[in-house]
Amino acid sequence: MTPPTNAFKMAQHQFDHVAELLQLDEPIREMLRWPTREFKFQIPVKMDDGSQKVFFGYRVQHNDARGPSKGGIRFHSSETMDTVRALSMWMTWKCAVADLPLGGAKGGIAVDSASLSRDEKEKLCRGWIKQLYRNLGPRLDVPAPDVGTTSQMMGWMMDEYSKTVGEYTPGVITGKPVGGGGSRGRKEATGYGVVYNLREALKHLKMDSSKVSVSIQGFGNVAQFAAQGSSQDLGAKVVAVSFWDNKEKAPITVSNEKGLDIAYLQSATDEYGAIAKDKALEAGYKIEEGEAWLSKDVDILIPAALEGAINADSAKDISEKVSVIAEGANGPTTPDADKLFNDRGIFVVPDFLCNAGGVTVSYFESVQNDMNFYWSQAEVLERLDAKITQAFERVLKMSLSEKVPMRDAAYMVAISGVVEAMEMRGWL
Ligand code: NAD
Repeated sequence: MTPPTNAFKMAQHQFDHVAELLQLDEPIREMLRWPTREFKFQIPVKMDDGSQKVFFGYRVQHNDARGPSKGGIRFHSSETMDTVRALSMWMTWKCAVADLPLGGAKGGIAVDSASLSRDEKEKLCRGWIKQLYRNLGPRLDVPAPDVGTTSQMMGWMMDEYSKTVGEYTPGVITGKPVGGGGSRGRKEATGYGVVYNLREALKHLKMDSSKVSVSIQGFGNVAQFAAQGSSQDLGAKVVAVSFWDNKEKAPITVSNEKGLDIAYLQSATDEYGAIAKDKALEAGYKIEEGEAWLSKDVDILIPAALEGAINADSAKDISEKVSVIAEGANGPTTPDADKLFNDRGIFVVPDFLCNAGGVTVSYFESVQNDMNFYWSQAEVLERLDAKITQAFERVLKMSLSEKVPMRDAAYMVAISGVVEAMEMRGWL
């Protein structure tokens, strides 16, 4: 069995490598290898059956040199401090690579969302805010949704914060429902951001987007809109998607060599990104247990589920045909697997560039909250496209001029931006 992958060690390993390339001084490295602040706290909740249960909540603020901390909240049963640390560090780089005036943070609760009733979820959301509100705020730290959390949950959290501080404060949290301070286009933002990156990558590689095939891990928020945009906007053929089957406790791949009807699959998918197998079979699609999505004979892979999805072992199953990997998820590739991709000449759009669409529209949301003036969906997506295209171009330029892979180039662009802000503020 492969040893468990520690996401934080992975994040530090990637940082150390680029710190060396950039010849950063030791004190800067020490500051950036670790988060600035960490919170771990208990959230007691009275459950529907009358019992009392204690959950563990987390918030990690990695670096806020460029602006208020920003990052999602995850409800996931295997949430640990190290996962949150890694994700907070990636948020710092993600905001910097997208050139947003924000720092990096992440938070969560160790819980399986699907095991909770609506009331229990609301209590947990409000409990998380009660424990942390002193360290949150539009100019301090602004959370958002992530795995296992929804816009409704962000609405409850914003309400709890506003009541606690005694003032309507929509800018304390993003990913809120539209009409409740949310931005249009937020739901689609991360998946479409993946698609804009992919479009630019294919342009650079001189590949015709209407002739490529795609296989995707996951069918949640990011994967669904990445699939939709790939087929509708790029004209690509999405042949496989996958999901976690909660009953079987196993990953399942749904595929069709002629291409999947994404809108049909979306209509057969629950709020946790699980596809109804009978509906997929009805459409004539193939159902396979395990990681079949990874070994499909396609041009493009989009891992868009969880971190550590592709390691050196599983990377060997990847088809010779694959020439682009667009990392929709955070940290889906272990460093060993990454090396293998580089050796094989696969063009990788690294996670914190590839999935920066979500945080970019989150930033647009807080800008709209500040102005109390809201943009149309078309305006949001147009601005998102411009921001992502610009970020991709900056990274590609760095990659070509320094002759380094896209991941190193993205780190170089991001870390230089953060170090510059730290120097400007006199932190070093
Ligand atoms: P989600 O909860 O909506 O969906 C997750 C999907 O992955 C579901 O379809 C689930 O069934 C599937 N899945 C889980 N484990 C799996 C496995 N072992 N094999 C196959 N499928 C599996 O989550 P999401 O919001 O789409 O986030 C996905 C990834 O993207 C995460 O890494 C998250 O951190 C990252 N991300 C999300 C956003 C966002 O805006 N939602 C932004 C940036 C990055």
